[in-house]
Amino acid sequence: MSSVQLVVIGAGPGGYAAAFHAADLGLKVALVDTELNPGGVCLYRGCIPSKALLHVAKIVSEARHASAWGVSFGEPKIDLDKLRAFKDSVVSKMVGGLGQLSKQRKITYIQGKAAFVDAKTLSIDLVKGGTETLSFEHAIIATGSRPAAVPGLSIDSPRVMDSTSALELPDVPKSLLVVGGGYIGLELGSVYAALGTKVTVVEMTPTLLAGADRDLATILARRLEKTLHKILLNARVVEMKDTKTGVKVKIDGEGLADADREQTFDRVLVSIGRKPNSAIDGLDKTKVKIRERGFITVDSSMRTDEPSILAIGDVVGEPMLAHKASHEARVAVETILGHNSVFEPQAIPAVVFTDPEVAWCGLTETEAQKQGRQIEVAKFPWAAVGRAVAIDRPEGLTKLIIDPTTERVLGVGIVGSGAGDLIAEGVVAVEMAALASDLALSIHAHPTLSETIMEAADVFYGHSVHVYRPKKKA
Ligand code: FAD
Repeated sequence: MSSVQLVVIGAGPGGYAAAFHAADLGLKVALVDTELNPGGVCLYRGCIPSKALLHVAKIVSEARHASAWGVSFGEPKIDLDKLRAFKDSVVSKMVGGLGQLSKQRKITYIQGKAAFVDAKTLSIDLVKGGTETLSFEHAIIATGSRPAAVPGLSIDSPRVMDSTSALELPDVPKSLLVVGGGYIGLELGSVYAALGTKVTVVEMTPTLLAGADRDLATILARRLEKTLHKILLNARVVEMKDTKTGVKVKIDGEGLADADREQTFDRVLVSIGRKPNSAIDGLDKTKVKIRERGFITVDSSMRTDEPSILAIGDVVGEPMLAHKASHEARVAVETILGHNSVFEPQAIPAVVFTDPEVAWCGLTETEAQKQGRQIEVAKFPWAAVGRAVAIDRPEGLTKLIIDPTTERVLGVGIVGSGAGDLIAEGVVAVEMAALASDLALSIHAHPTLSETIMEAADVFYGHSVHVYRPKKKA
């Protein structure tokens, strides 16, 4: 039986980051995953392949729109094999690089499925055959999550996809129903729409992107109404049946037209959320506790109730995002090394990579209202900034959530082209307790979309150059 100081179970952005940090800090580390290389859901079937496809989708839409600028390319022709090969090559470059980084750090990478024998021992079912037993001083569970199915509606049909099978791009269906108006459904729905599919989105709640402020989601919805076939809000799928001609779907919801209530789609993508992978064999032989929705219980230092075992990433809770997992990894490793490290971010950015992108961090306006917290919201419309008009994308909005007494920036929300990159400034502002004046007085390059953050701060003080506010009468 071999032994290590730390074994990390699951090699996603949480797990591989933990293993790499620990090795850099001198620990003897093993990293276990069923895949050939580190990467996890994020690299194999999540963040990275979806962004490769969204990149192509954006080019296709821009090419279609370019005639408005006097440049015509003709209707884009899609070579699905080549597109798939491009996406797969992006994934293999990235996971190959991580495999290399793991080797360079002398991490023992074990390809197999881990199960607990007790709180100090793992049994690993090796992919190549056989079993390996590994004893450890500490373990970090980073087993991630998997797509959730619609309760009571799962049907066994190749036409019904989850995010993993949708990313395989089996074909370009004539029609696609996306069940769930969250970020994964909207991102993948946008890819298929750009490739030529008629995409319908069904969402149970009154708005797309439940976590985002309404004003941000509305700007995205307005554009999606043009690129998608239909968005049905306050509606739910109540029946799905596989037929020879497609999936027959019954949709329920107030005010739906009869034609929307019963439709047949070539394919259905179910994207209603994700479930934590906490049902690890043998976990019941340890003191690790599972709480509601199946998440593993951890404290702010990522410790479970079993002293030798920590847990990070999707398996410990929301938000299920790669950068949250990687940050928790750092905390977990430092905790093992005896540092007083805690996971207490002021701002975890959320980015939806649709076109336009939507991004927010820190306190949202909706959360502030729920908490009854006094805030001031300063908004700057993108139609007033040169760069947005120059790239013909004036339909954006940047908003700051500000404490009116201290003038501290509590949250930032952005919708518009490249919002996912712009939000970084918001994260730094919230994390460093910046005042609105810090943003207003920092010179932002012209003409850039980042000027919208400075101008939103100027709006708060009533002296934005590009937004006219009539003076209040005395
Ligand atoms: P995961 O990445 O889920 O990795 C867990 C690993 O553990 C897997 O490789 C699994 O094989 C392995 N494993 C599980 N059980 C065992 C076991 N018993 N033994 C050995 N190995 C095991 N997040 C973002 O931040 N930005 C995005 O743009 C984004 N886009 C996404 C798009 C899609 C389509 C999807 C599905 C997800 C997306 N996410 C995105 C979410 C992101 O992928 C996850 O938050 C992230 O991967 C979680 O990392 P993790 O380390 O917790 O686990």
